[in-house]
Amino acid sequence: MLVSAKEMMTKAVAGHYAVGHFNINNLEWTKAILLTAEELKSPVILGVSEGAGKYMCGYKTIVGMVNGMLGELGITVPVALHLDHGSFEGAKACINAGFSSVMFDGSHYSIEENIEKTKVLVNTCDVLGLSLEAEVGSIGGEEDGVVGMGECADPDECKMIADLGVAMLAAGIGNIHGVYPENWPGLSFETLAAVKEKVGDMPLVLHGGTGIPDDMIKKAISLGVAKINVNTECQLSFQAATRQYIEEGKDLKGKGFDPRKLLAPGYEAIKDKVKEKMELFGSVGKA
Ligand SMILES: [Zn+2]
Repeated sequence: MLVSAKEMMTKAVAGHYAVGHFNINNLEWTKAILLTAEELKSPVILGVSEGAGKYMCGYKTIVGMVNGMLGELGITVPVALHLDHGSFEGAKACINAGFSSVMFDGSHYSIEENIEKTKVLVNTCDVLGLSLEAEVGSIGGEEDGVVGMGECADPDECKMIADLGVAMLAAGIGNIHGVYPENWPGLSFETLAAVKEKVGDMPLVLHGGTGIPDDMIKKAISLGVAKINVNTECQLSFQAATRQYIEEGKDLKGKGFDPRKLLAPGYEAIKDKVKEKMELFGSVGKA
């Protein structure tokens, strides 16, 4: 059964580790992440962007697939199904479809409008027992070929959003989505520490986990980060393994064209990547 991310977040903050949020794109992705979490006895959050939601034929299809897998694969660790960077309408759609957690990304609105919309969703999620993630200070990343450097959130604005009763808060600390450019100055630990001081035990979320050096990840966890989003890194692992399979001509031998064989190396690569991240985040054995 899907669970809200609230309890896993509280435990992560108390235990000084972080729970991995891994974006899913299809059945192979979902199965790889769920089985790795089960093998490692780690809580896990499955992330679905609105784009991936459309790709997988809508939120209800995803809820059906994930719930089916939890039963058929005998998954016993806590699993949250979470909307990633949702719009206000997207969040409502996921709540109706049976997601156990949603993110409302109101970082592009004025802080007043962000507060207003977040507040509405806090109330809805509270009634239904779901967890809500809010965002302050937008996360950079590539848009139309330009890589934005990522804002640093205003700690006072973080406190205003945290006080609404969200389960977890994404605060921009110079992190960006996708692959980091060579001239990236690194995470702003000054910002993170200032946010932490304002929001106390509120679990913080680090987006753009791909390519942040391990020592920075560990320091971020020590400063209150309890959820780390990983997306691009799984995509790159899947791509590299699939490329190798094709380049070695394995798809041309025997039944190597069978999609269950063709997708197997990429599937295994995702499992390895998720395992590596769960070990780094410290969530192994915490389920
Ligand atoms: Zn993100």
